[in-house]
Amino acid sequence: MDCIFCKIVAGEIPASLMGETEHSIAFKDISPRQPVHILVVPKNHHTNVADLAFNDPDALVDLVQLGSKLAAEHSKGSFRLSFNTGTEAGQTVFHAHGHITSTTPKN
Ligand code: 5GP
Ligand code: ZN
Repeated sequence: MDCIFCKIVAGEIPASLMGETEHSIAFKDISPRQPVHILVVPKNHHTNVADLAFNDPDALVDLVQLGSKLAAEHSKGSFRLSFNTGTEAGQTVFHAHGHITSTTPKN
């Protein structure tokens, strides 16, 4: 499958890795829109967060836990976790991913 995030998970495309669990990886967004902008991504392919929630809820919880841990490490505690779902909502990569963004980096 021609999926850029599957290729990052497989190590076929480089990314600036920030963290990893059994189910999820996290890496810096290539085009950050906030001082902190990290993507949290399930290792298995799901098209969007709704598919992930219905098909592998444990992996969604794992993703939120990893994102929350990284937000605590890299921000002063205030952050957003957002999931664009569908083209008209701004989704451009059709492998589920959460955006961790914060305007207040830790240092
Ligand atoms: P979406 O618009 O689908 O919610 O978010 C996709 C995000 O993936 C965008 O913020 C975009 O900058 C990021 N992105 C797209 N391609 C790559 C890539 O190859 N590497 C990394 N690290 N981020 C990417
Ligand atoms: Zn994928």
